[in-house]
Amino acid sequence: MSLTADPALTTALVLFSGGQDSTACLAWALERYGHVETVGFDYGQRHRVELDQRLVVLDAIRRQFPDWSSRLGDDHLLEIPVLGAISDTALTSTAAISVHANGLPNTFVPGRNLIFLTLAGALAWRRGASVLVGGMCETDYSGYPDCRRETLDAVANSLQLGMELPLTIETPLMDLDKAQTWALAMELGGPALVAITVEDTHTCYLGDRTTRHDWGLGCGTCPACELRARGWQAWKGRLTAHTDGGEA
Ligand code: ZN
Repeated sequence: MSLTADPALTTALVLFSGGQDSTACLAWALERYGHVETVGFDYGQRHRVELDQRLVVLDAIRRQFPDWSSRLGDDHLLEIPVLGAISDTALTSTAAISVHANGLPNTFVPGRNLIFLTLAGALAWRRGASVLVGGMCETDYSGYPDCRRETLDAVANSLQLGMELPLTIETPLMDLDKAQTWALAMELGGPALVAITVEDTHTCYLGDRTTRHDWGLGCGTCPACELRARGWQAWKGRLTAHTDGGEA
């Protein structure tokens, strides 16, 4: 097992949706690994804008971060319309977004990350990558059972066994809240990466890219926008508290 391989000699494959979280993960991987590739999934999302913004973000990173650009390799887009066919959720149909009695939003696609990670694992095998990087997070999405570290460890174990590949799954955002994700973007890429995150990453469930806020573009009222806005405001609040109060 080469689980302790030198990161500089390691290829990582980042699950990259073009959202805030996966953009932070991409920056984290580019700062750490010698070669980084990206994979996205077209599963019949209600809004093509998500897939369009992936390419906008990648282009902005290539232009503004020469050091990272030299390590940023191919982008892959896998079409998995079957996921839409077996789901009946707000992300892939015109149903309204709401929260079920069990606490899971109806945007939840059952086991979606299991499918994504398995496909990414197979692609990693093909591409010589030994690390998958994903933006799964227990802090803000505690209702998603396929975002839990325990689930991811089990998936990594399955992929290692099933492909005889020393594959690890890294989740740099696992214990971060949304404010800390903004802070991570600042730490990794400074104001330029924060600006890319604000301007180019897409979060809004309704696909709105016309209404502008401090934290980016979106309707401002869907659960995804609310989460992103709250994180931004909390991050700004912490910065202000730190500036005003010294040791915050
Ligand atoms: Zn929205």
